[in-house]
This record gives sequence, structure tokens and C-alpha cells, in this order.
Amino acid sequence: MFRKREKYLIFGSPLIEEPEIQEVVDTLRSGWLGTGPKVARFENIFKEYTGAKYAMALNSCTAGLHLSMIVIGIRSGDEVITTPLTFCSTANAIIHTGATPVFVDVERETMNIDPEKIEEAITPRTRVIIPVHFAGRPCNMDAIMDIARQHDLIVIEDAAHCIEGWYKGEKIGNIGDMTCFSFYVTKNIVTGEGGMVTTNKEVWADKIKMYGLHGLSKDAWRRYSDEGFIHYQVLFPGFKYNMMDIQASLGIHQMKRIDKYLKRREEIWKMYDDAFSSLPVTCPVQPEHNTVHARHLYTLLIDIDKIKKTRDDIQQELHELNIGTGIHFISLHLHDYYRKTYGFKPDDFPNAKYISNRTISLPLSAKLTDGDVGDVVEGVKKVLHRG
Ligand SMILES: *Cc1c(COP(=O)(O)O)cnc(C)c1O
Repeated sequence: MFRKREKYLIFGSPLIEEPEIQEVVDTLRSGWLGTGPKVARFENIFKEYTGAKYAMALNSCTAGLHLSMIVIGIRSGDEVITTPLTFCSTANAIIHTGATPVFVDVERETMNIDPEKIEEAITPRTRVIIPVHFAGRPCNMDAIMDIARQHDLIVIEDAAHCIEGWYKGEKIGNIGDMTCFSFYVTKNIVTGEGGMVTTNKEVWADKIKMYGLHGLSKDAWRRYSDEGFIHYQVLFPGFKYNMMDIQASLGIHQMKRIDKYLKRREEIWKMYDDAFSSLPVTCPVQPEHNTVHARHLYTLLIDIDKIKKTRDDIQQELHELNIGTGIHFISLHLHDYYRKTYGFKPDDFPNAKYISNRTISLPLSAKLTDGDVGDVVEGVKKVLHRG
């Protein structure tokens, strides 16, 4: 009988290996900590990986979302459509441009924004759609791109969960107008803090680069080389969003193992699917045909009506068994700020609300041993059978 894990299993613990540790040490010894040659290397690796023409490294995905909107001139009075079932930074980035976030409910099964409901939300003020590839599952990009082209809207993808994703033979990062990725500590690959924007459009790429470093003229990047002293011009009141070489040192080596880590998460995913099929839960639906799911989050929906316990009870009981879990997400329309500011009611987005009350994310890091996975399986079985 499973009692309790010896050691606490931390949710979303990254796998850091020796080559990145050595690379960070090398960077520290080089004395060049800021934006420099290693950031350029990381950007090139990422460009190659996604097939996009341009990749700009930044200090977070949030910065990438914000800058993507800034460079196309999003401002007060504009509306940006997105999902409420996302991390708050998607909506906050919209708000920081001065624009209004307009939520569209998700599909119950895929948990992604429902393209059929997007059109109803479009007004003359709508400028952008931000689909979020929830948990690593690519959104219905055919439908979203069609709607965007018909209404002359820009598509900025939040691919924080979806670095490895493919949609119908196209790599994520190469579909929408701009795509934003995250290398935050819990994400599929990590740089501590870090993000990337990919695009195929040169003017946006140049502006993201420039606006991400105070709005200094392009020449300013030579400040980071030994080509000698130069003057730069400030061309825009920009932001401090650049990535450091210390961060890129991690990314360069993590990218080499990105597919290996994905394979391991696919194995763990399969073990969970097999183990939970007869429990009062709904496992994630299979990835759609001809897509690659990036397997960032394994989210179970707990049948709270059947087991007479809340999701929070289940999370607490797993915690007591030394198993850490995550909640992705409590829909943004249920959070204080957005509720009060935009007057949302819980039932405005019924699927997002349904998921908010039932979802729990199990550990899925490539770092997990089979023993760890076995503990999670036993723990989940135990807390669901009790009630
Ligand atoms: C983590 C996350 C972000 C933010 O990424 P940062 O790199 O931490 O800024 C944005 N969107 C989603 C869906 C996320 O999960």
C-alpha cells in the first residue's frame, strides 16, 4: 500500500545537465555576462529549429508578447482576442499596451480557444488574436488564420507551452505572424528566465530587437563587441527586455536535448494514460491527426461530482503524500482584477469555468524516473479511491 513518498516530488522541476553548467561557468569566466555571442548562437539554433527567418531572444515570453503588440502599434482603444484559460501574463501583456483583452471560451476537450466563437467576438476595434497552445497542444490554426485573414487581424501565438509543436506539417513558430516562446524554469526547456519571438517579417524582427533594448539604434549592438567606441541614437522609448549570455548558455545546450526530453515526456504521458483509464477522471484527449503535441502539461479533469471532493482537496491530499502538482489554470475571468475591471460573470465562459474547477496537472518533467511516475500513479489512485 502506497503511504507517502520519501522525498517531495517538486512539480515542474527542470533537468539541468553538465554541459550547460560548464557553459555558464565559461560565460562567467569570459567576463561577458550580458547580451553577446551566446545569445546570437542561441537565436541561430532556435531559428534553425523552428524554420522561422528571424528569432529574437528576450528575457521572457511575457516581454515577447508585449513587444509583438508594441511593434505593430497596438494601443489604447484596440481590442485583442485571447483565451481566458491561460497564464495571466497573456492578458497583462495586452493590458500594458493600453488595449482591452477580449476573452473567447475554450473547447472542453482540447482546452484551446474555440475558433467558432472567435468571430462573434470581433468588433471594428479588434486588431489581434492571441491563441495559446494550451499544455502544448497546437490550436486549430487553419481556422484561426482564416478568420484573421478575413478580418485583417494579426495573429501572435503564445507558444509558451509548445516549443516542440507541429500543426499539420508546419512547425509552431512558423505559422502565425509572430510566435512567443518561454524558457521559464518550469517550461519544456529552461534558461532560468527567458523567451523568444519568431517571425518571418524583417521589419518586425528589427523592431523587436531594437525596442527590446531601450529603443537604441541598431549600431548599439556593437557596444557588445570590441569594434570600438560608437555613438547610438535613441529611436524609440524602448524596454529592457534583452536576454543575457548567462541565460543563453543554458538554452544552447538544452536545445540539443529538446527531442530527447520530449520523448521521455511522451513515455510518461502514456504511463499516466494507461494507469488512469478506469478512475473517475478525464485524461487529456489524444493529439489531433497530423500534429505534434509538445506535452508540456498532463492535465487531468477530476470528476468532482462523482467523488464528492473538490479539486483542491485532491491537490492537498497529493501534497500530503509528497507529490507536488500544478493548476493550469484558474480561468482569468474568475480572478479579482479582470472580474472587477471588465465585469465578467463566472458563466460568461462556461468551459473555462468547468475546467478551472476540475483540472490538476501532474509532474511531467523529463527528470522523472519510472519510480517517480509510479509514485504519482499510486498517489492519484489512493486519493481518488478514498472518498
Ligand atoms: C509561462 C507562460 C507565459 C509567460 O512566460 P514567461 O517566460 O514566464 O514570461 C505566458 N503564457 C503562458 C501560457 C505561460 O504558461
